[in-house]
Amino acid sequence: MGDNNIEETKPVDGYVWDMVMANGYDCVFGVNVDDDSIWFYHVYEKKRAGSVYESIPSEELPPKTLSKFRDLLYDFVVSEEQEPYREQLRLDNILAEIKERGSFVRTVHMTFVGERKSKCYKFFAHPDKENVLIGFVYDISSAVDHDWMTDEYARLGFIENAERILEELPIDKEHYSLVYTNIKGFKAINDLFGEQSGDMVIFQTRDILRTLLKPVIMGRLENDHFVLITKDEFLSEHALLSLTNQTYNEGFKQYDFTIRCGIYRINGRDVSVGKMVDRAKLAEKSGLDNAGRSHVVYNDDVRVNYVKQRVLISDMNKALELGEFKAYYQGIVSAKTGQIASVEALVRWKHGKLGMISPGEFIPAFESGGQISVLDRFMVDRILEFNQTRARDCKLIVPCAVNLSRIDFYNTSLMDHLVDVYSNTSFATDYVRIEVTESAYADLEKNASDYLNRFKDLGVKILLDDYGSGMSSLSTLENFSFDIVKLDMGFIRKIGIQNKAEIIIKSTIELSHALGATVIAEGVETKEQLDFLRDCGCDYIQGYYFYKPLPEEEFAQLLG
Ligand code: C2E
Ligand code: CA
Ligand code: CA
Repeated sequence: MGDNNIEETKPVDGYVWDMVMANGYDCVFGVNVDDDSIWFYHVYEKKRAGSVYESIPSEELPPKTLSKFRDLLYDFVVSEEQEPYREQLRLDNILAEIKERGSFVRTVHMTFVGERKSKCYKFFAHPDKENVLIGFVYDISSAVDHDWMTDEYARLGFIENAERILEELPIDKEHYSLVYTNIKGFKAINDLFGEQSGDMVIFQTRDILRTLLKPVIMGRLENDHFVLITKDEFLSEHALLSLTNQTYNEGFKQYDFTIRCGIYRINGRDVSVGKMVDRAKLAEKSGLDNAGRSHVVYNDDVRVNYVKQRVLISDMNKALELGEFKAYYQGIVSAKTGQIASVEALVRWKHGKLGMISPGEFIPAFESGGQISVLDRFMVDRILEFNQTRARDCKLIVPCAVNLSRIDFYNTSLMDHLVDVYSNTSFATDYVRIEVTESAYADLEKNASDYLNRFKDLGVKILLDDYGSGMSSLSTLENFSFDIVKLDMGFIRKIGIQNKAEIIIKSTIELSHALGATVIAEGVETKEQLDFLRDCGCDYIQGYYFYKPLPEEEFAQLLG
């Protein structure tokens, strides 16, 4: 059965040869189950640092038995896996499992010269020889480094290999950038057409990036996010513009999408690739793209914006204590009479140092930082108190809508608080309404949207905000019985300008009425818009034409 010498690997028989060819195995060996002896058919001799055999003392080579081979590698196994490794790789254990399942497979993590590797051990019974097993050890680290779906690097593989490539590129003579991409509209494609279509969009994006940006290296970090390094000359305005006008076509399915980019200009090697990726991503997420462009280059603005968001997040708790958050109230009037029928509460932050900050600036930060639900709870409590005080003083009260973020529906403590408020506070159900934007609703998972049903069952009116701004407006109306539909400002802006928008407004009002909902038009600023909406049978009007959002005291005076 061979002389057990690695240097003179035995000629291999057909079955084993196929297995060897199928993958880059570290080694393939035979095991005689009668005496535990082993011999090698094949050893993958990687001569670079990290090779399995490099650190094994030469007098130990070759191991003559499976138990000795196992013990030899024991020291490389990460400490937390050493015990099970020694226990599991016993011949009797292997035999028992092969008898039961036909094969024995275990993965173990090992460290060689500081590099962590995933090694897979596999044992089969030899098809022809009764007392022989075939054993394999192979490296599956690349399963972690490689993105098998797109056949590009995965995160770790990209970062490691990009570091290496940067060493070789003439970055002091030529200009290179690292690009992070995000497919805008990806989720909608997944939702509308299914995951397979989503996958096709990822392939399409990969191909476009390969052709247009000619990367020297590319990887996919996760979902729809690619990252690549390319020469600046390939990041021309023309190339970047082409990325924004993409169409996904498959049979009757068609959908426009945009590939957004964050760009980090590489100058020097003092920034690690991991950091470059973070910065390019930050640029993409910063929303600092101007002039309708869909790429942002990382620069000081991006950094300052990021720092500001971090500052806002860290200032939040103190601001709550100091009472810097205020509820503002924007009256909503009946289209027929012009009388205030209800109100929307909008948060404002009177920041100690930065002055008045609008929600557009801090709400996204709080949403990603997780603090939004604390703020929204504050708003709910504030509105309740406002109404309760007025009711006690026998003053007029009107229903008030509070804005809830998508994140709020996953915050059980806020949801429980609301259920409690609605169940136990006398007029809460009539006077505190819930507003949820169309895009937030579309993103809610079942257990989260169940809360809306509960509130509705308790008698709370639910408003659908920004109707018509999202991707799945009609299905949103189909999926939940909203009491009030708020027509998005974008449509109102087009009254008197675009005939199609007018037709959409008119039909949406009819559609909502047919579904048993009333309609608020928001962002109404002119007499012309008001007249048109009245003619269309719109029920309520919100906008600067009547009222701007007012501080509590002013709104209280207005109500009288
Ligand atoms: P939204 O819910 O769609 O609120 C309407 C926004 O349009 C408000 O901006 C309001 O001040 C503004 N607006 C009202 N009428 C007009 C008009 O005639 N013309 C123009 N140009 N604008 C008008 P604001 O207060 O800056 O709020 C922005 C967004 O921030 C809100 O959009 C809402 O999504 C969010 N938000 C505001 N308060 C809260 C809150 O307490 N909690 C949460 N989660 N989000 C909030
Ligand atoms: Ca709103
Ligand atoms: Ca709105």
